[in-house]
Amino acid sequence: MIEYLMDASESKSSTRSVAVIGTGPAGLMAADVIARAGHSVTIYEKSRGPGRKLLIAGSSGLNISHDDTPDEFWRNYRGPAEHFRKLFLLFPPRAWLDFIHSLGIKTFRGTSRRYFVEGLKASPLLRAWIMGLQEKRVQFKYSRELVDFDCMPHGSIQLRLRNADAENETETFDAVCLALGGGSYAGKEKPLRWPAILKSKGIQFQDFRASNVGFEVDWSPSFLQEAEGLPLKTIVLKTSLGEKSGDLMITHYGIEGTPVYHVGQLGEVYVDLKPGLSLAEIQKKLRSIKENLAPIRKIKKQLSLCPAALALLFHGTPRELLQDSEALIRRVKRFPLVLKHTRPLEEAISSAGGLEFRELTPELMLLKFPGIFTAGEMLDWDAPTGGFLIQGCASEGFLAGKSIVEYLKK
Ligand SMILES: Cc1cc2nc3c(=O)[nH]c(=O)nc-3n(C[C@H](O)[C@H](O)[C@H](O)COP(=O)(O)OP(=O)(O)OC[C@H]3O[C@@H](n4cnc5c(N)ncnc54)[C@H](O)[C@@H]3O)c2cc1C
Repeated sequence: MIEYLMDASESKSSTRSVAVIGTGPAGLMAADVIARAGHSVTIYEKSRGPGRKLLIAGSSGLNISHDDTPDEFWRNYRGPAEHFRKLFLLFPPRAWLDFIHSLGIKTFRGTSRRYFVEGLKASPLLRAWIMGLQEKRVQFKYSRELVDFDCMPHGSIQLRLRNADAENETETFDAVCLALGGGSYAGKEKPLRWPAILKSKGIQFQDFRASNVGFEVDWSPSFLQEAEGLPLKTIVLKTSLGEKSGDLMITHYGIEGTPVYHVGQLGEVYVDLKPGLSLAEIQKKLRSIKENLAPIRKIKKQLSLCPAALALLFHGTPRELLQDSEALIRRVKRFPLVLKHTRPLEEAISSAGGLEFRELTPELMLLKFPGIFTAGEMLDWDAPTGGFLIQGCASEGFLAGKSIVEYLKK
């Protein structure tokens, strides 16, 4: 039995008040833990409704976690190893899946060991989560942007919040959890305003950079005409950062997709268009064709490449090499692509950078502002796509929530 799923009714109600800022998975999870412990929780959100980025994530299939052994899971995160190792012992993927199931939402394990919510959309999960919180008397206040905070001499925390009429409201709490999210998909707010609040207080912050983002490639018009919007199916992308299999989507500006999110890097990279066959096996297959066909036709006939891969081979190979069977086969196994630029932060799935861990206790409390805790993508860590991002945010929300409950006992 996961300790987390303790019935809220077991906890006593308290007079302690906690504010959570942000309605992403990190903030909602922190609020859930704190409310279950019987404290009075108010969630503030600058938007008019909850979980904007969660809803965006759900538009392409909500991938909530990943099936990896507990010993290995934390290794997927770029950030302080000890933090992530302990984090997933405290709140592992199994606990997150159990939590989602407790809200009445089913999940399934898809391809590449990814977990998804049934129906793939985020809205049923978000709706059920908000209802569960409201049942625990958590209050939601939308169109409230945190613009400043401070610790008061007697230990309480004062928040300054701007409402929809651009008026400032001041509220005081016993503890606060900041779960303000990362720098990607920021909408109209350019630049994001909240990092400046932290910086003005001397809190070390690494500026956000695009992560899990597409790359630009100079495609020829003839290639784009044939292949734009098509996937390079089940290829392997090879860079000096490693190798990753999956599909790459051809866009008008370049490529998107799991392989490039995992191992993409500027400069020359290589694509194996037929990873299931070795160079020797391909050579053998093509030599077995007795008809007098051009090399590209032989490849089309024998290798069952997807249309985008064939188009890439044809339009992306210098004319003189198109007649050279051996050279073309080598390009099937190692097609060179030059990745020119990353796409901008606004288009990235996540962001690297954020509030530095050296500003925090292991319990995620700001060293300079006792009583203020943090969680989620606003912190300086990063992870590849595959459910690791939302899992990391939910687990950190859980840790911050637990830490606040402990803090309020003192
Ligand atoms: C297109 C896309 C697809 C994605 N797909 C996946 C996926 O399938 N799987 C996965 O694991 N991850 C995915 N992600 C990433 C995932 O959505 C994020 O990592 C996650 O939502 C971050 O959670 P969070 O709670 O830290 O922050 P957020 O979800 O960003 O929530 C932060 C909240 O804080 C609010 N806020 C910010 N500043 C203030 C302020 N000053 N005052 C009040 N409120 C404020 C924001 O409005 C926001 O609602 C995707 C992201 C994108 C953009």
